[in-house]
Amino acid sequence: MTALAGKKGLVIGIANRDSIAWACAKALHAAGAEVGATWQNDKARPHVEPLLDEIGATLRLPLDVQDDGQMQALFDAAATRWGRLDFVLHAVAFAPRADLQGRVVDSSREGFALAMDISCHSFLRMARLAEPLMAAGGSLMTLSYLGASEVMPHYGIMGPVKAALESSMRYLAAELGPSRIRVNAISPGPVRTRAASGIASFDALVADSEQRSPIAGALLPEDVGPLCAFLASDGARAISGCTLYVDGGHHILN
Ligand code: NAD
Repeated sequence: MTALAGKKGLVIGIANRDSIAWACAKALHAAGAEVGATWQNDKARPHVEPLLDEIGATLRLPLDVQDDGQMQALFDAAATRWGRLDFVLHAVAFAPRADLQGRVVDSSREGFALAMDISCHSFLRMARLAEPLMAAGGSLMTLSYLGASEVMPHYGIMGPVKAALESSMRYLAAELGPSRIRVNAISPGPVRTRAASGIASFDALVADSEQRSPIAGALLPEDVGPLCAFLASDGARAISGCTLYVDGGHHILN
């Protein structure tokens, strides 16, 4: 009997084989969970669907998190197929390049609002739709970064956005805890993914992480998957409101 046998949940944020969400989906599946997943749009679909075949994901739908109809349809499909949800992973982030690569002080109102909507408020919308499907409790997870609490070079407006995401995670944990719904953030160190390629001088962040972290060396998406699988499991039943770092210990450095 594996740790997640019988558990069912959604993974949102797979773009390709490099995605952290894909490593998490593999770990959840390997631990015995039934995983449903989404692709952002028609352009992403051919990159995502073959991966979903690999883990036998039967629940698969498009989801642009700004499309309320698609979001509702996804959770309706989970209700119809499974009658409940045990976990949801939110691994979605976006900021317009000009706002991401410019100074925070210069960020546009529109760019900041868009980044907040896609990268932060979408997690609240998912939690609201998941709540009635988690009558027996469940696990909501999102992905953050150290730039939420410290000023990281070139992280720009994603710093304030991730700070809002982590604070939202704690408020959700407080509000949903009485329903035995746990809410946590996983904060990986720098991992080469498509989203990361939008961050200027990302190579320097990776080099610093690889060289200075107490556990030195490259971080891979596969380093994150096992924590996701654990947080989805009953073993994490008393863990909520946490930001958990998967960064070789880098966050303890100054
Ligand atoms: P990725 O590019 O593989 O994943 C980002 C995902 O966000 C993609 O699947 C993309 O389709 C999705 N997305 C963006 N806008 C969307 C929208 N409107 N609707 C639906 N989906 C949308 O990159 P990743 O690095 O795996 O990113 C996953 C998460 O991990 C993000 O929250 C990111 O901030 C976080 N993170 C990444 C790193 C890193 O170094 N790569 C470190 C810490 C945290």
